Amino acid sequence: MTYEFHVTQLIYLVASALFVFSLKWLSHPKTARRGVLAGVLAMTAAVGGTLMHHEIVTFKWIALAMVIGTIIGVPLSWVPLTAVPQRTALSHSFGGLAAGLVGTAKYILWLNEGPEALTSYRMTAIVIECILGYLTFTGSLMACGKLQEWIPTRPITYKNQNLINLSLLTIAVAVGVIIVFKPYLWWLFPIVILLSLTFGVLLIIPIGGADMPTVISLLNAYAGLSAVAMGFVLENKLLITAGALDGSSGFILSVIMCRAMNRSFANVLFGAFGQVKASAAVTEQRTVKSATAQDAAQLLEQAQLVVVVPGYGMAVAQAQHRVRELYDQLNKRGIDVKFAIHPVAGRMPGHMNVLLAEAEIPYDKLTEMDDINPEMPRADVVLVIGANDVVNPAARHDKGSPIYGMPIIDADKAKTCLAIKRTMNPGFAGIENELYYADNTLMVFGDAKAVVGDLVKELSAQGGIH
Ligand code: NAP
Repeated sequence: MTYEFHVTQLIYLVASALFVFSLKWLSHPKTARRGVLAGVLAMTAAVGGTLMHHEIVTFKWIALAMVIGTIIGVPLSWVPLTAVPQRTALSHSFGGLAAGLVGTAKYILWLNEGPEALTSYRMTAIVIECILGYLTFTGSLMACGKLQEWIPTRPITYKNQNLINLSLLTIAVAVGVIIVFKPYLWWLFPIVILLSLTFGVLLIIPIGGADMPTVISLLNAYAGLSAVAMGFVLENKLLITAGALDGSSGFILSVIMCRAMNRSFANVLFGAFGQVKASAAVTEQRTVKSATAQDAAQLLEQAQLVVVVPGYGMAVAQAQHRVRELYDQLNKRGIDVKFAIHPVAGRMPGHMNVLLAEAEIPYDKLTEMDDINPEMPRADVVLVIGANDVVNPAARHDKGSPIYGMPIIDADKAKTCLAIKRTMNPGFAGIENELYYADNTLMVFGDAKAVVGDLVKELSAQGGIH
């Protein structure tokens, strides 16, 4: 054991601890920044420690890979917050591809060394790494394509789809098992790769856009597990630890999101959810009542409790700073303002929390769905800003609705609902929202930033503040 080996192991130990602390800190907004910093330090230490490894023959290829990674990675970090889900999916796809390629390279290297190098232990790790890695690669690419709308977001279904998909995976695993015991049958290896790549595509195409967040965190779990297998292949303990952390946190997030939507994993993966479908309850012609910013400001001014429900539209409009100004205006009048946060509002977990934190809205004013719902009947005004699916009452009672069973924020139970959006177009799930047609709902049409800005102007004019 060389001196460098021991230093590397020590650095890996520190990096592992930092990864664990990073996850712990990331789980609360107050410590999240520290969590990010710990994660960055951990990854820097991991890469630095690996570069000290005694087995590195030349740095030429490593340097080239770093340059290519930087050229791709830096512009990726510039994407707007609304595009982070697809950016995350793309990162997972790169992670999956890297794991698959490392597994393939190791198989070829060991094959050339002779049959004794390809032990069943190594082959099992390689096969798991490659199946998970390659299916994560194409699956995540498809998820990214769906979210970016490069491919149709609706579920693409055909007859016996689930049977075909499961058969494909079973064949990939069966061929993988054969190759574990007969590793010299090298021509079976590309078959495993091809089947895994195809399975990744077929797994994702029947899944609707509304389920993509859950699918992305599930793919995150797969990428983590393939990294664990890669750790066994490369005999790298840090990769095993980091991959296990990645895999389990992805899995836990998927479970949380499934619970938030009242769905099971099987239903997300095989249920072809999110098909564009008009809800039976609102197919007949109904009219909506609209209000001006002036009317809305008056209603807000008279309220004692205002609950703001932000959604994807607030993110698109980048209205969070105007929302902060509105909060200040209402606050100055002694009106209690609370923000109701739905776990899947926006396009990524924590989307609303990040935006509201950016606008420096006090964190204790953000209330989770389960805590705010009992308070809804007490709210004088619920101000829905660019939220749609997460306040759709059809989720509670319309068994024919694709979002049936998804817990929602009970905006319809407030005394008055003010809904800000530009048109009557549906939200992410592609379905109409009966909340907008309710007797106690007033629509304030327009871009969220402009409308909330107008509300602030009205209030400051009326109250003489500013
Ligand atoms: P949503 O159902 O997608 O609705 C957003 C609404 O915002 C739209 O109806 C749109 O109506 C309006 N809007 C868009 N741009 C606007 C602007 N500039 N100003 C004002 N309004 C604007 O959003 P949501 O209620 O937040 O629900 C989230 C949905 O996304 C759920 O179905 C969830 O499952 C899904 N999803 C969530 C995540 C996650 O992790 N959070 C990830 C992916 C998908 P107009 O076009 O008429 O303005």
